[in-house]
Amino acid sequence: MAIYRDEAVVLKTVKLGEADRIITLLTRDHGKVRAVAKGVRRTRSRFGARLEPFMRADLLLAQGRSLDVVSQAASIATYADAISADYDLYSNGGVILETADKLVATEHEPARAQYLLLVSALASLASHAHDPHAISASYVMRSLALAGWRPRLDSCLVCARRDRLDYCSVAGGGTMCSGDHTTDAIKVDPGSLDQFRALCSGDWGRLDGGALNPLTARLVEKWGEYYLERPIRSLRLLDS
Ligand SMILES: [Zn+2]
Repeated sequence: MAIYRDEAVVLKTVKLGEADRIITLLTRDHGKVRAVAKGVRRTRSRFGARLEPFMRADLLLAQGRSLDVVSQAASIATYADAISADYDLYSNGGVILETADKLVATEHEPARAQYLLLVSALASLASHAHDPHAISASYVMRSLALAGWRPRLDSCLVCARRDRLDYCSVAGGGTMCSGDHTTDAIKVDPGSLDQFRALCSGDWGRLDGGALNPLTARLVEKWGEYYLERPIRSLRLLDS
């Protein structure tokens, strides 16, 4: 069996049999990988808590026919400790992991930029660098942008004028002026649109000035749902 080494963030885990788990990982060099961690649910597992969601670890993996097998794991960063201790961090962290899992669909296809964006979002969350909701919303917009779904927010999609951008169409892919907007477009105000732009570019100087407008949060949710083609469950939980 071929052995390879990579660092990874644990996105999710599901039980397998009596003592094992299937771990979904986003790795730095091998993209998304699903691997079996044997004996991980035993009290004296050699993996300890290193293979829980939010953990970033250095791994040795053995290539299997369908699933790979984790043979060694060493912790690199324990974002999980800080994130799990705070409900607000935990629920926004859930949005981030779920988005990463859905967005990177193909296994073993390198997604280095997605990996780096994920690590930086989790590190910001764990260190309370910014408002947790803004961190997860910015992650959703930027990870989708990396995947090719960046909104166009500086001119009207129809006539290209740069003023009176009073609408945003998720299906259309960006802003529209009041004369051209389609029926699906959402009416926006300049403040919310400005915040939406700041999320897409990671402009923390602008975002740290105040909480996310409900309309901005709604635009992110709609954008995420539309371009991931199914609802982001954790994003819904944030609204309730
Ligand atoms: Zn127009």
